[in-house]
Amino acid sequence: MKLLYSILPPFDKLLGPQAYSPQSSWRPIAYLVQQPVPEGLLLYNTLTKALALLDAEEAESFLRGGVPSEELARQWFLVPQDHDDRQLAIQIRHIVRMLSDETVPITTYTIFTTTDCNARCFYCFQKEAVRHTMSPETARQTADFILAHSAGKHVRLQWFGGEPLYNKKAISLICKALQSTGITYESGMISNGFLFDDSTIQEAAAEWRLKDVQITLDGTEEVYNRVKAFIYPEVNAFRRVIRNIHGLLDAGIAVRIRMNVDLYNADNLIQLTQQLCSEFKGTPGFRLYTHPLFGEEVAGAAIYHEDKRKLLYQKRETISRLAREDSLTANENLRGPWKIHQCMADDDSCVTILPDGHIGKCEHFSDEGFVGHIGRDGLDEQMLLSYKALRDETDSCRTCPHYPSCIRLNRCVYSEYCFPEMREEMSMIIRQSMLETYKKLKEAKDA
Ligand code: SF4
Ligand code: SF4
Repeated sequence: MKLLYSILPPFDKLLGPQAYSPQSSWRPIAYLVQQPVPEGLLLYNTLTKALALLDAEEAESFLRGGVPSEELARQWFLVPQDHDDRQLAIQIRHIVRMLSDETVPITTYTIFTTTDCNARCFYCFQKEAVRHTMSPETARQTADFILAHSAGKHVRLQWFGGEPLYNKKAISLICKALQSTGITYESGMISNGFLFDDSTIQEAAAEWRLKDVQITLDGTEEVYNRVKAFIYPEVNAFRRVIRNIHGLLDAGIAVRIRMNVDLYNADNLIQLTQQLCSEFKGTPGFRLYTHPLFGEEVAGAAIYHEDKRKLLYQKRETISRLAREDSLTANENLRGPWKIHQCMADDDSCVTILPDGHIGKCEHFSDEGFVGHIGRDGLDEQMLLSYKALRDETDSCRTCPHYPSCIRLNRCVYSEYCFPEMREEMSMIIRQSMLETYKKLKEAKDA
């Protein structure tokens, strides 16, 4: 066995090498992901983040459940038959939390400049919500709030809506106010991309310090124009958004394309992916990914039906493969830090700020579930705790390789289900990263 990555610090010291006895009966730990390579078999431990290569002979023996390698056992790839893997994962998660500084300043602000929008997507979770737009006065108070709660740290602003560009004025006001205080910041945006133009892109790069934009494309030109149903029927919205994506990339702003996929548009999205691959292949900063349609807005979505779900995930995999072949997907960082939060909702360093100044914890709660207001001191501790409450574990969690990093919040619409296809997709993403990592390590060694 060749250890490519050892156990991630500080657990290399805390766990130490596992005591080994050839008399014990050993089995693979539940948190292994395997990936064959021409030289043998890669093993990645999602708990320790260690990566190993078995040569062809060792791989064959490992896959047959043969005699354990002492080194595999010492490095926690194997554990005794009666080992409680889940308990070990819980302990590690507990220690990681203790080691992290929980009394953090607020450094990530998702700011809803408006809940109004210039598109009319049928699946939008905000389509029935009351539409509010942030006033200049609230924008200035937002900047004051950021200044008062970020403890001088670098701040990340995430512009959100509705369509955040529908109220550019609020963005400019907040950025100008922050600049005058000397606070350092950068920003990202979730946008439909329609309202960008040359001068907005220049202002975004220079003043808003915009680093990345997520733009949703729901189909090729005709399908997209129908699904988005923009309020400007005379404009070809698809072409305009593609033009703006080029403009953003030229200005050094990364663009992440999100494709909301269900069976009704999956084949069309495969077609769109082919078009995007040929148009953006090799363009730095361009990425794409799919997201299955979910939630009460789309009660008939394929994800809720076993037979349709399988087909949907096959089509998603086709899209991912096409994007991967042209290096347009992001890879999982195998050595990333241990996860202690699911998202902004259970992370004390993040808040949302609504157009009327209410403070929230989740993008999906724009009308209720607030934890405070920028005009008042303090946050509602009970409400904050309610966002951290976890869902019950299921039987599948006991043997799931993703358990060490799986945090499922009770209030999160995306945590409601965990289907086998989702888990397989997560494993596939890890396997892909194992291949990429191995390739890079080999290249570095050959260089
Ligand atoms: S919720 Fe799903 S992904 Fe998470 S540990 Fe359980 S089975 Fe695995
Ligand atoms: S919807 Fe879920 S993942 Fe998104 S912010 Fe809310 S709790 Fe987090």
